[in-house]
Formats: sequence, C-alpha cells, structure tokens
Amino acid sequence: MLFKNYIGGEWVESGSGERQKVINPATEEILAEVPRCGVSEARAAVDAARDAFDNGRWPRMSPSERSQIMFNLATMVEHEIDTLATLESRNQGKTIKQARDGDFPFSVDNLRFYAGAARALSGLPAQEYLTTGTSFIRREPIGVIGQITPWNYPWMMAIWKAGPALATGNTVILKPASVTPLTTIKFAELCEKAGFPKGVVNVITGPGELVGNELVSSNAVDMISLTGDTSTGKKIMERGASTLKKLHLELGGKAPFVVFDDADVEAAAKGAAAAGYVNGGQDCTQASRFYVQEKVYAEFVDLLVKETAKVRIGDPMSRSTDMGPLVSSAHRDKVENYAILGREEGAKLEAGGKRPSSLKKGFYFEPTVFSNVEQDMRIAREEIFGPVLPVLRFKDIEEVVEKSNDTVYGLHSSVWTRDVRKAMVLAGRLRFGAVQINDHLPITSEMPHGGFKQSGFGKDMSIYSLEDYTQIKHVYIDTTGDARKGWHYTTYGDPS
Ligand code: NAD
Repeated sequence: MLFKNYIGGEWVESGSGERQKVINPATEEILAEVPRCGVSEARAAVDAARDAFDNGRWPRMSPSERSQIMFNLATMVEHEIDTLATLESRNQGKTIKQARDGDFPFSVDNLRFYAGAARALSGLPAQEYLTTGTSFIRREPIGVIGQITPWNYPWMMAIWKAGPALATGNTVILKPASVTPLTTIKFAELCEKAGFPKGVVNVITGPGELVGNELVSSNAVDMISLTGDTSTGKKIMERGASTLKKLHLELGGKAPFVVFDDADVEAAAKGAAAAGYVNGGQDCTQASRFYVQEKVYAEFVDLLVKETAKVRIGDPMSRSTDMGPLVSSAHRDKVENYAILGREEGAKLEAGGKRPSSLKKGFYFEPTVFSNVEQDMRIAREEIFGPVLPVLRFKDIEEVVEKSNDTVYGLHSSVWTRDVRKAMVLAGRLRFGAVQINDHLPITSEMPHGGFKQSGFGKDMSIYSLEDYTQIKHVYIDTTGDARKGWHYTTYGDPS
C-alpha cells in the first residue's frame, strides 16, 4: 500500500521522493509506505493552512454550516468503521475488538459531540459593564494549529485534536507518529469527501524532529497541540517559546490504582487487569501503580495473577485475542528492560516477564505482574507504557495519598472502596486530572480528559476542549457619542 500526504487539498509525495516503511507489529512485515517529509513540506502545509485560515471560507462559515460538514464526516467514519479499524489494528497492533468496538465508535460520538457543542458555546452576556458603552465577548478560532499525535491511539488522538479545532473554525496540520501514520491519512481522505475546503485539513508524515519541529518553530502556526511523551512536551515548550505559541499538551502518566481493604477485591482485581493491560498497557491513563491496603494485599495479588492468566495474547485481528503485540521492536525492548529491572530492583515476579515463546514473529510481551514493589523502585515511578503491573502496599489514607501524589505525573487515578467518605476524601486530595471510584478508564465525550503537573495542560473532549481551541475578544462600543469622554481628564485637562 502506498499512501500520500494531503497538503492544500492535493495528494502529494515528499519533495525528495523519499518514503518511510510502515511495519505491521504482529507480523514484522512491511504494511505500507508513506512519504518521508521534512522542513520544506512542513512549510508548504503551514502555508496551505495559513491561506485557508486567513482567506478561506472555513473560519467565516456559520457554526451550523461547519457543523453539517462535521456531521458528514462522522457519518462517513461510521460507514467505514470496519475498514478503518482493520487498518488501525494492522498498523498499531491493538486488538480488532478494541479498535472496532471501542476506539472507532467512540470517535464517531466525539465528532458528533464537537459538531453540536460548537454551536452552543457560552460566555458572559453583552451588557453595559461601564455605563458609557456596551461590552460583548467574541469567541474566535485561534488560527493555524499544528497537531502532533502519538502512536498508541493514532486515530482517536487525531479526532480528539482535529475535532474540536475544526468545529470551532481553525485550520489544522496533523503530524502522526512515524510508526502509525495510516489511519490519519485516511482521515484526510474522509475530510476531503465530507466537504472540508482545501487547506483546512492537512496531513504530513515525517520525523518529529524535522516536521514536528518546523510546525513548532514556525511564525505562521498559532498553536501546537501535542499528545506524546513528557520529554517531547518540554522540547516543544522550549522551541515554541521564541514565537510564544499557545500550547496544548497531553503528556505521560503513571496512574495510581488504590485498593482499600473494604473494597470488593475481586472487582478491583478484574478492574486492574482490564485497566492495566488495556491497549497492551500502551495507554497514558493505564493503571500502572497498584496501591493495595495491607489486609487484602495477598488476596489482591493472587486474584490479579489469576486474571492475568486469562489474557489471551496473539494475532490482533482475531476477535478472541485480548492483547496484541507492542507497537514496535524498540518499544518491546524498552518494556522488556523494565521487566528485567523489576527483578534487579528486588520486586517479586508473579507472572509473565518475558516474550511469549509460542509467538515467533511480532513484538509480543507477556502480561506481567510484580509484587513487593517499593515506592522508590523505577518500575513504580517511571512510565513503562506496557503490560507490566507493579503492586505496592499501604497502611492508611495519609500514606496512600502521599505515595500516589509522589510523582511528576498527574493524568488519571482510581480508588476502590465501599466507603463513600474515603472515596470523597481521595477524590479531593489526589492531584490528577481524573479520579474514578470503583472503575478505572471510562471516558465520555462530555467530560474533559487532561493532566495536572507534568502530564500537561489543556483538555481533550468536552466543552473545555472547544474553549482551548478558541480565544476570546472583548468588543466595546461607546454609547455616549461624546467627543470628550468623562474619563479623558485623567490623561489631560480637568473634569467637565
Ligand atoms: P513521543 O513524544 O515520542 O511522540 C509523539 C509525537 O511527537 C510523534 O508524532 C513524534 O513524531 C512527535 N515528536 C517527537 N519529537 C518531536 C519534536 N522534537 N518536535 C515535534 N514533534 C516531535 O510519544 P509516543 O511515544 O508517540 O507516545 C507515547 C507517549 O504519549 C506516552 O508518554 C504517553 O503517556 C503519551 N500519551 C499521552 C496521552 C494523554 O492524553 N495525556 C494520550 C496518549 C499518549
């Protein structure tokens, strides 16, 4: 399969004709080729998006007209779900049941939410806040937005970025991660068919250091939205500083999963396996540190190991597979090294910890559980981004609040208890963008997703994402008609 880039409404190759290979992580075979673009193509994409914003119809359409095109897009995605989910699964390695029943239907709902919600943005009423004139607020698009996405949810992250940005009248340049560009290119195809004017949506593939960096450095790009590693967010912040770019950063996570001894431990263990092994553990909200109160610690570890044994690893295209390969050979090596490190640090390996011997091809890694993990071990502190679950002990509320918050990250968390008081206390004290009680992961289009601390800032989904992709302007109209206004004497002359 040969894919092109979409710039200014044209399907193009890279200027040099260079291409990069895209690998199927389940078979290690070449799945497709895409253009390997660099700085000059990134500039062309910026010019196209700039022109479409400054001179085109999109930002000037009524919310209703834009919304109709967004709804067209949502319907087209819905019709293409099987094809898109299959492509995502082949490219990323996620299971077809997650792609087909999870990511893609959810993205259709996201698009419909953005399409509708952008027609109903709210703000302060127009009023005479000064008796001499009327003030009102305009909410306007920000302009040209560079949107840089990661490899774990290539399609869904593209929708979470492009959806609210487009619905509010911006123009976008999407730069997918190099290993998972395919469904983002399909997104451009569907946008073209749905009726987006030329230049409003652009997709460009190439290394982050070249293409991404050009978007970040360009004077003609008004905002960068990145979902990626915290270290990439820091680089972008530094490089975006010279143009004081607005940033929207969804970065790493190390989500605590807190189990009190009054919890339904069986439910917690099932929730732990589901939230720990979701997307092969390659999920920023993944439950990745398990704090279990002493009395139920042994029982929880035992149940989690039993749940882990039920996880069927193999061909992601089979509906009976629960976990596919990790996204790349390099990433599998990284996860494997953490499993080795866990043993070296003195944690007890309870399950997994190696590549499955039955799968000769593909970047597979077994679901892995470590017990006797201590707070200062690297497996408890660093983002592994794979199916490796460290389980720690705690005594009381104070200790678990302190340990949970003892991290640079702040994206997601959950608390398992039957005691509403404990649930409410932790909901207030955990410093994360989400706290969930007796479940870990559920997300919905109406609710914000985004981090505290070094997990970034800015929200995906919800009305808050639409606000993030707009800016407000104060318009003031003098109603006195006086040439010399009442306040002029404060600058010169005397009061009249
Ligand atoms: P990454 O930071 O390596 O890459 C993300 C994107 O940034 C890619 O498109 C990459 O090409 C680009 N990039 C890399 N260096 C760049 C640079 N110098 N300038 C501009 N662009 C650059 O992240 P990844 O490995 O693809 O994804 C995994 C990370 O994403 C994890 O840390 C995970 O927690 C995070 N993530 C966060 C969320 C969230 O909502 N907070 C969601 C998904 C993933």
